[in-house]
Amino acid sequence: MDYDVIVVGAGPAGSMAAKYAALNGAKTLLLEEHGQVGSPVACTGLISRNALDECELGEGSFINKRIRGAFVHSPNNHNILLDGKRTMAYVVERKIMDREMARRAVNAGAEILISTKAEGITPVPGGISVKVTGPDGTEDITASVVIGADGVKSKVARAAGLGNLPHVCSAIQVEATYEPRNPDFVEMFSGSRYAPKHFAWAVPTSGDCCRVGLISDEHAHEYLQRLLTEHEIVSKKARSAVDLIMGGVPVGTLKRTVTDNIMIVGDAAGQVKPISYGGIYTGARCARIAGEVAAKAALAGDASSARLMEYERRWRADIGRELMMMMRFRQMYGRMTDQDLDEALALLDDPEISEVMTKYGDIDRPSKLAFELLKLSKNRGMWRLMGLLVKLLF
Ligand SMILES: Cc1cc2nc3c(=O)[nH]c(=O)nc-3n(C[C@H](O)[C@H](O)[C@H](O)COP(=O)(O)OP(=O)(O)OC[C@H]3O[C@@H](n4cnc5c(N)ncnc54)[C@H](O)[C@@H]3O)c2cc1C
Repeated sequence: MDYDVIVVGAGPAGSMAAKYAALNGAKTLLLEEHGQVGSPVACTGLISRNALDECELGEGSFINKRIRGAFVHSPNNHNILLDGKRTMAYVVERKIMDREMARRAVNAGAEILISTKAEGITPVPGGISVKVTGPDGTEDITASVVIGADGVKSKVARAAGLGNLPHVCSAIQVEATYEPRNPDFVEMFSGSRYAPKHFAWAVPTSGDCCRVGLISDEHAHEYLQRLLTEHEIVSKKARSAVDLIMGGVPVGTLKRTVTDNIMIVGDAAGQVKPISYGGIYTGARCARIAGEVAAKAALAGDASSARLMEYERRWRADIGRELMMMMRFRQMYGRMTDQDLDEALALLDDPEISEVMTKYGDIDRPSKLAFELLKLSKNRGMWRLMGLLVKLLF
């Protein structure tokens, strides 16, 4: 074999998987089809401190802004303020962050080929042959294990017979000049007018800019136009959009993420939080396990599906329950009418509840907050809120 491990795709998940494969002693190759790691960007870049830690990055130059909280708008445009009173999240520049992560994979011992696309995979005795096309033409490279970290449209997952993701939503976003009410807070919008079943956002970045976007099952462009031109807050403050991006966001995971000699990680596996649709924290966490298991399997000369299942078991034990609970919440949220959302937000507009939300709110693991709210609403006899939370949780 030319390599022990080949990782396809140098996004956060791919770089993390390559880093951990190399750290565990595997001869590792990381492939990126684009000429620059991190470009083009399809991300708002809003991540938690935990996500930064999972990516094993300190507070580097890729941090654009620190965020303290959020104004959350109901469909009738009542809004509540959630103020963490300290840095609760960071806005990052993915172009710089992704390059830093790839650099760290290389520092750990992985090789990287940019402008090199994996075109196909074929099983060969003891491993996989990857057909790659790069600046010098097309060649076949072999490895004991191939990790597909090639994003939401993963060709590796399909070619490996691991099927398609259950559902993919559209995310759309512009970067525009902006006069925020308060530059330390993001604005979140709910309701059928701008983001039916999902949500929209305006996230300030440094200077006088913000990223305005939304998630949608259909007509994403029309909803964004409406948000930009009609919403009381956004239309007055966001101007001169200079950058439009669109991308797919997976909702739900692949049924299986391993087969003989192949593992799938990150967006390609659907390892994305189905409430916030953020995939950096979850992808990096799972990728670390993938890199380690791939290296050990390759070096032991056994990269059978049975051996690689260790990865599947470990990542599901780690985040599977949380993802399942978020999925239930998402399904229930998707069924709520504008009136339900107005009512729910009005119930949450209470100083004690806001305090619990800011104290226990964790965008990566929201179940803790749900349990704390449940306890509080029970103690205070808030049966309507409790009923809502019970439905969300079970
Ligand atoms: C508009 C939008 C906003 C978002 N905002 C946030 C946010 O604020 N916070 C958050 O946590 N998440 C956010 N996400 C999700 C986040 O961007 C993804 O979860 C994350 O990028 C997934 O990382 P990944 O490494 O799995 O895949 P990707 O980042 O998609 O990386 C895949 C890489 O594989 C490469 N590749 C693909 N095919 C091949 C091939 N055949 N050969 C070689 N290379 C290949 C691609 O070029 C790419 O570099 C957002 C997504 C969208 C669309």
